Amino acid sequence: MNAQEKFNIIKDVKTKLKQELIRLHEAYYYKIINYLKGLKICIDYNLIKKEKTVFSGVYLMYCEIDNEIIFTYVGESIDLFKRFRQHVANLNTTKKKYKKMRSLGASEKNIKFLILTFESDQNKRLLLETYYIYILRSKIYNLNTKLLSKKAKCDQNHGNMTSKLLNVNKLSIKLNVFVKCRNKLCKQIINLYDFNGLLYNRI
Ligand SMILES: [Zn+2]
Repeated sequence: MNAQEKFNIIKDVKTKLKQELIRLHEAYYYKIINYLKGLKICIDYNLIKKEKTVFSGVYLMYCEIDNEIIFTYVGESIDLFKRFRQHVANLNTTKKKYKKMRSLGASEKNIKFLILTFESDQNKRLLLETYYIYILRSKIYNLNTKLLSKKAKCDQNHGNMTSKLLNVNKLSIKLNVFVKCRNKLCKQIINLYDFNGLLYNRI
């Protein structure tokens, strides 16, 4: 199998529900989640209630029942614990996203949060959010509906950029996520895997 064929499978695993790829996908997804669990700070409901300090960053919200991952959701916030409390409180509302989470079995007891990275700069947070959404992208598990926030900006302050997962090495697999400015005079491209300001946050 050549690199392009391998890359096509990676894309399919993340974006399609192909029966023959489901077991591969599950194995891949549990590997990522377990890796992140071992590396990042895990927050459960009891901690959310107590913590009053303001921490800004990117997080992973996930629901786990009987050691099975039910769903994941990546987000960012200027005040992580406030956002965590909002998510838990919203589980009892009729908002679409939370109705879906509840229908999958989510409750305050089985919802957990991993702090993926601390970051006070909003634009860096938005780009890092995209970086993690691509890593955790899944038709089976992930509930994120957007890959990149419209608020994320290039160096010239243009918003509404586009994003794409690419393999940058023809002979082997080297994944990169690129964010591109839509402004015709600007067209700045930011490689999220090579961007200096984000390097320290790489997993
Ligand atoms: Zn631009």
